[in-house]
Amino acid sequence: MTITYNMLEVQVDLSRIVDNYRFMRSKAAKLMPVIKADAYGHGLLPVARALTMAGADAFCVGSVAEAVTLRLEGALDPRFRVVSLLGPVDLEDYAEAVANDVTLLVGRLEQLELLQAAAARAGRMARLALKFDTGMSRLGFSETDVPRIIRILAASPNLRLELVTSHLATADEDSGVDYVQAQAKRFCAITGKLSAAGLRFAANLANSAGILGFPELHFDLQRPGIALYGSNPFLGTSREELGRPLKQAMSVTTRILDVHDLPRGGTISYGRTYTAPRDMRVAIMAAGYADGYSRGLSNKGQVCLKGSRAPILGRVCMQLTAVDITGREDVRPGDTVHLLGGNGSGHISAEDLAGWWGTISYEVFCILGLNRRVYGGE
Ligand SMILES: *Cc1c(COP(=O)(O)O)cnc(C)c1O
Repeated sequence: MTITYNMLEVQVDLSRIVDNYRFMRSKAAKLMPVIKADAYGHGLLPVARALTMAGADAFCVGSVAEAVTLRLEGALDPRFRVVSLLGPVDLEDYAEAVANDVTLLVGRLEQLELLQAAAARAGRMARLALKFDTGMSRLGFSETDVPRIIRILAASPNLRLELVTSHLATADEDSGVDYVQAQAKRFCAITGKLSAAGLRFAANLANSAGILGFPELHFDLQRPGIALYGSNPFLGTSREELGRPLKQAMSVTTRILDVHDLPRGGTISYGRTYTAPRDMRVAIMAAGYADGYSRGLSNKGQVCLKGSRAPILGRVCMQLTAVDITGREDVRPGDTVHLLGGNGSGHISAEDLAGWWGTISYEVFCILGLNRRVYGGE
């Protein structure tokens, strides 16, 4: 899914993603980069290629379809691991995963049986990751399923167990440390029982915040996502320092369409939610909620125009938004404006934008990343 025919342009600096990868690898050596959701809006295949050249040999994506695309179009070494975090939904997903050597995350007993059947039909081995719920209450087996899993695996000659996985709910929060420890304790109990039954696998629990904040929870493999794209998971917490070297890889620009005066008492945009308190000058830019630039930014957000900030005035429309350029003679129709990124003191981080938007950097990247992308730093 992409947004076409609009003026927004997403610039992705792949060298920053590689630098972030190297930084994360300096903290934990066996990473499976998470490039689900089109690499958090940065582009599945370009990001996979850049990370492969930097030494990555395993990736986590979302759907089985995304995993198959990566396997077939990513020109990956056949030995590289491609994990589908969402796992199989339809029967065809099992066959597709088996045929394309995708490691499937499975969290229900029925899925184990369907996967064994699909692999047996194809005369191949299925690559399996067991997902356990240790506290997210989303997907996954519980500890009480372990005896039955062990029995099913013993009776399933076509299943090759590779990974045992769980996911942390609070690793990036100061107040979440106890919950992380409780999840880790459950995870260790589960992996302990599976090992005791003679099963061999690579245990993995840590996301970006887990890698940076909990070295004792690195287990065999780690799954960094947001850190690769340059967002510090600890920003605004007591552990902010841990993610300081990360560099934002995405910038988003659009163009100024018009510049005009807004006299004192004049109102702007739908609903007249902004009234000029004095004579002002405004620039109208080509960006709006149809481009994923949230209407929630109305009267709240800022853009970076030639190195300094300009605040949004009035409501964000479908394809147009007004910003305050009072006192600035340097702005002209056709100028480029940064919705994300930009130079100088006006630079806009994903966290800045997320704060005005009422969301997190993850959503900013995923949504704005739907626009047309260009790549640099290769
Ligand atoms: C998205 C995801 C990650 C990566 O999390 P970040 O916070 O972005 O590092 C890791 N593991 C699973 C299962 C995920 O879904």
